[in-house]
Amino acid sequence: MHRSTTLNLLLRTCPAALDMYDAHVPYDREVYQYGVAAHAVMEAIVKQPDHDPAELAESVVRELVTNGRSFYGHAEPPMDVHAATDGRDVALGWLARDFDGIDPRWQAETMLSVDRNWNPCEHRNAWLHAIIDVTGPCTYEDEEMAVEGVLHRDWKGSWVTSADDLHTLQLKIQTCLVAANNPDAAFIRRQVTNLRTGQTFSEDLWMDDEGRETLAQWRRDIAHVCAQAEAVGPDGRRVARPGPRCGGCPYVMTCEAAWDEYAKAFVNTSDPQELARQYAIIDAMRTEMAKTLRHATKEAPIIVDGGEVGYQARVTRVATDDAPEALALAWFKPDNWSQWQRENEETLGLLAAAKLGAGQIKAIGMVLFPGRGDSAIAEFKEMRADLEDATLTEKTGAVFGVTKGK
Ligand code: SF4
Repeated sequence: MHRSTTLNLLLRTCPAALDMYDAHVPYDREVYQYGVAAHAVMEAIVKQPDHDPAELAESVVRELVTNGRSFYGHAEPPMDVHAATDGRDVALGWLARDFDGIDPRWQAETMLSVDRNWNPCEHRNAWLHAIIDVTGPCTYEDEEMAVEGVLHRDWKGSWVTSADDLHTLQLKIQTCLVAANNPDAAFIRRQVTNLRTGQTFSEDLWMDDEGRETLAQWRRDIAHVCAQAEAVGPDGRRVARPGPRCGGCPYVMTCEAAWDEYAKAFVNTSDPQELARQYAIIDAMRTEMAKTLRHATKEAPIIVDGGEVGYQARVTRVATDDAPEALALAWFKPDNWSQWQRENEETLGLLAAAKLGAGQIKAIGMVLFPGRGDSAIAEFKEMRADLEDATLTEKTGAVFGVTKGK
């Protein structure tokens, strides 16, 4: 049986990732966890619209951090408290904005299944299956008519969720499943909601000739992806395609094919094509290793032969709160500073909003007082230094990386 989530994984990574998913190979779930928590809170709120959302959210968090969730009957470990509470905050943050609220007629987490002929069927006989975050009735209204349709909505916890998400395979699968299970619908309202920003992107797919042809094309596209997910080699395994998509693949640290490519990286080659592939895989593994080591070195760096891995203090120069005014004073050189301030609040606001960094402030200094090295007259150098002193301050932060021993 194919699920929209696993087909999505295939498209983001490669077919071999599905073998690891099917085998329940553990992977770093941390990046997905706040989204899981946000969905769980939204599910509880949609299912019980008469209950206090904040109370529901706290009970969901408690369940996630003590028992964990069960996904398709597979028990997951209890969730990290930070991830669960972050997800709660994302969900409640959306609700607090009250953009369009919760319709009490909505249903949460609707399980829809079809067989190979796109006929609705029971889950155990499914060829394709998805859990839809929200389904329910909706209405199209204009001056001439009011028509009832079917809504499906996908909650998204990512900041970058946009109208483009209406055109992902995941949403197309959902629409095809909703259409198969609602054959008489006049239209299907397809929505993705960015829980972070509160925006809902929406489009109506009318079940006229054009809409039905669109659905038919989506079904053909989905069938190709399902066919790829079903294709196995003589060894019964799906094909691995190590390369740039290993970056972002949750199995990169356990994938044999990726490690084989990694090992090849130590065999000298000057073939740019081969080097590019190896570079992409090493980069993906480095990113994954860094995630684990950032946790492991929170308290202290790990000493390795010839140096250490972990956090080091790094002093950087950042803009002071007064920097926008000091820069404006140096740039515009007004005769009457108080009056200029009163008349140019918007300019000062713009400078503050730009959050200039040390690089930009130094560049402004170079324009005001030009010249480098020996060619710079001493007076200009001094003025640049004065401007930087007036606008920059030192800040100590922590930076993760490898430090060579002395
Ligand atoms: S690590 Fe790379 S080769 Fe392995 S499953 Fe993921 S994408 Fe495929």
